[in-house]
Amino acid sequence: MKKIVLLLVVCLLSLGLVACNGGQGGNEGGSTEGGGSTDGGGSTDGGAVCAHTFGEWTTAEEATCNKEGKQVRVCTKCSEEEEKAIPESDRHTPGEEQNGLVRCAVCDAVLEDNRPHTVTFKVNGTVIETLSLQEGEAITAPTPGGSQWYVWSSTVPTVMPSRDLVFTAVAIGGSAGGKTTWEYNFNGKLKIGGTGDMVTFTTTSQPWHAYKQEITSLEIANGITKIGKYAFFDLVKLEKVVIPDSVTWISDYAFAACDWIRDITLGAGLIYMGEDVFVSSYNLERLTVRGTLNWTAVDGRFSTPITFSKSDPYQNASILLENCEAKFVTEQADGLW
Ligand SMILES: [Zn+2]
Ligand SMILES: [Zn+2]
Repeated sequence: MKKIVLLLVVCLLSLGLVACNGGQGGNEGGSTEGGGSTDGGGSTDGGAVCAHTFGEWTTAEEATCNKEGKQVRVCTKCSEEEEKAIPESDRHTPGEEQNGLVRCAVCDAVLEDNRPHTVTFKVNGTVIETLSLQEGEAITAPTPGGSQWYVWSSTVPTVMPSRDLVFTAVAIGGSAGGKTTWEYNFNGKLKIGGTGDMVTFTTTSQPWHAYKQEITSLEIANGITKIGKYAFFDLVKLEKVVIPDSVTWISDYAFAACDWIRDITLGAGLIYMGEDVFVSSYNLERLTVRGTLNWTAVDGRFSTPITFSKSDPYQNASILLENCEAKFVTEQADGLW
């Protein structure tokens, strides 16, 4: 009240008036009652009323992220207050981090997600490793051990992004000697890739031995020069194989005991075939020979190299295949057989 009185005095002193018109229509028509707010005695003459003189806007209530704020200003003459809203702020108020999450203390919005994310690695339907990593941490994908590798469904990033990841191995592989490689796709298919000679194996040392019961298809890259001893021994579900032209040497027992192999095509580059390459592959029905037939093979029983030639290919081939008790059908590019 003191203030109002003071302001009125100031108003009167400066303008000789008491009331402000405030733009509120309080003074129209010379009516001075003006809502009875002022002692407007004689003050309304000629409509010469003073306007409000507002001070600076001041913030009465800060806006928050979920509530409007308020600014006010006060007339220096009549103390009338005017207010206006401050729009909601887009500035949140971070609270304490809890379980890796920083939420706004006012509106509960998640401001930061510092939870680790998981990377899951699956092989053949089984989760073999789960990593829990913060964004930016290095990812190390598991390996089968030794110098073997997994081929993952998609490229494994080197650092962790801000989301969970799942990788499924689509193949397992490794070296098959020298510059040769192998890959098995967990679904029946074995691929021999690279170039050069495969190593010599024992009956059980092939790296794909664990899958011998399920391998149904074999692909050998054109570039392989030597098929290792026992390489595909005992692949009991393999039915067909095509030896590429790059292969010059098929080592002993390479396709022995392949119970269900029916169809073999030999490449044009073949020079030598080792001992009993097809022994005990009882169901071999069709041997397709391409190229010059200028190669030798060793018969297991006599360990005698047999030179294949065009002179009597049927007999020679029969010797080669005698342990297979196979029907022998061949086709040759030059139409000899
Ligand atoms: Zn005023
Ligand atoms: Zn908020």
